[in-house]
Amino acid sequence: MTKRLSRNMVAAYLREIGIDYVLVPARDPRGAEAETLPAREGEETLEDIRKEVVACRRCPLCSGRTNVVFGVGNPRARLMFVGEGPGVEEDRQGEPFVGAAGRLLTKWIQRIGMVRQDVYIANIVKCRPPGNRAPLPEEAAACLPYLRRQIRAIRPEILCTLGAVALNHLLGNNDRITRARGTWRDLDGIPVLPTYHPAYILRNATREHEVLADFDLLAQRLRSG
Ligand code: URA
Ligand code: SF4
Repeated sequence: MTKRLSRNMVAAYLREIGIDYVLVPARDPRGAEAETLPAREGEETLEDIRKEVVACRRCPLCSGRTNVVFGVGNPRARLMFVGEGPGVEEDRQGEPFVGAAGRLLTKWIQRIGMVRQDVYIANIVKCRPPGNRAPLPEEAAACLPYLRRQIRAIRPEILCTLGAVALNHLLGNNDRITRARGTWRDLDGIPVLPTYHPAYILRNATREHEVLADFDLLAQRLRSG
């Protein structure tokens, strides 16, 4: 029996008992090393972008930060998540989605058979807005070019926006998250699936089933890709 077949049988068994397991290897086994290797020759790497962002003073959010929260995960991720901006714990640790909302996001990722290290996670703004308010339009506009460059460097097959702020700023629309979630969008040829922000689900647990349905859509698309 080949290794591949036995892994498929494990996946089939897990699906049988209700776990939506997908085999989603990263496109490139180089792991962290890929931070310094461009996806396409001559293009900038995540490390190039990071160097610039850690010194950024393009908007007033720079004055309140402890750490720039650049983004984390596999530089060759097939699936990339976009949140709103760092909270207090993210600002302290310099890593996105490490607080309570982050633990919920991690659970959703694991539910479709992946771990955080398989995906890439970033935010609309890289510095923490005071008092956990949403970023102002001008702050989002100042920071968005970095996110777009990260997307270009990673070249994910699928994007998933978390919450209305990520949806509206990344796609440049005013769509309501309650209507937009679970419906595929497009960003320069990359399919984008909006879903709710995990912090919203922490306050509205009865809506989690909608997010789980959206994650099933992500898993399906990765499986067919
Ligand atoms: N909420 C976000 O939108 N991003 C984080 O990194 C953490 C919480
Ligand atoms: Fe620069 Fe973005 Fe931080 Fe504003 S939020 S200072 S644009 S990195």
